[in-house]
Amino acid sequence: ATPTAVMVATGKGASLGVLIKGGNALEKAHKVKTIVFDKTGTLTVGKPEVVSVMLFSSISMEDFCNLASTAEANSEHPIAKAVVEHARKLSQGSGSNTEYFAEAREFKVHLGAGVSGKVGDKMVLVGNKRLMKTYDIPVDSEVENYISENEQLARTCVLVAIDGKVAGAIAVTDPVKPEAVRVISYLRSMGISSIMVTGDNWATARAIAKEVGIENVVAETDPLGKAERIKDLQMKGYTVAMVGDGINDSPALVAADVGIAIGAGTDVAIEAADVVLIKNNLEDVITAIDLSRKTISRIR
Ligand code: ADP
Ligand code: MG
Repeated sequence: ATPTAVMVATGKGASLGVLIKGGNALEKAHKVKTIVFDKTGTLTVGKPEVVSVMLFSSISMEDFCNLASTAEANSEHPIAKAVVEHARKLSQGSGSNTEYFAEAREFKVHLGAGVSGKVGDKMVLVGNKRLMKTYDIPVDSEVENYISENEQLARTCVLVAIDGKVAGAIAVTDPVKPEAVRVISYLRSMGISSIMVTGDNWATARAIAKEVGIENVVAETDPLGKAERIKDLQMKGYTVAMVGDGINDSPALVAADVGIAIGAGTDVAIEAADVVLIKNNLEDVITAIDLSRKTISRIR
């Protein structure tokens, strides 16, 4: 692309909230035939809310929520924020004066799995089955049933273990963005196929993918696994774009031929990406591809 054409296109993009980092990004974007979408915060709104809490032990609801929320207090994960918000609402409603532990000690983030930490004298884990497995905590059939019931409803279920036993589970829902269906279907009409990758479990992932009209899904994968999937596709000869919000997907944004960061984005995402979508609207993925196609075809 000539410097002038690139300048015009990036200028046009910028005015639309689509920041394209130079001619190289523009050049590659027009070859894209496959787009990999992150799920949480990319296809979905990314602000999950707690919709159901189930106790599997004799603990009180308030104590349970407080322990879970304290363990999550220092996590940046959207699920953590939902858990904290739920506990806050609950304690406001009850008007009781339960003692609060500001944050957990020995707090640890387990990427793509959950968190762990000590609250008072209790060891608390909040996360998925994989996290429970890591700590050798059994998940019985009652818990399994609750999980699958919720996953079928496209909800994500996290387990809370206290001192080595699953004390309860929290189901969160994260609705898909209103434009998601339209965008996936429009991309298909442009000859671009879509794939969804997520660290979330298979059942929830499939339910969400079905909602937005994506057939190709990769679930239960960690941030490096997402990048590996991109590399697999590239080895097959595809030029691949990756759309993500930067939470657990920065390595994939870097690996992609065209990394597209969406939303306010994390600093890491903005750094890692070739294209930054300011508005958190999936339609701008189309805007970016369109802009590149028009610019490149005009030059040729
Ligand atoms: P996604 O790819 O959908 O953004 P992540 O890789 O961030 O998913 O997380 C994968 C799964 O790990 C989540 O669905 C959840 O079950 C669990 N998880 C990760 N972080 C947390 C957390 N802070 N609290 C509870 N669960 C978590
Ligand atoms: Mg995400």
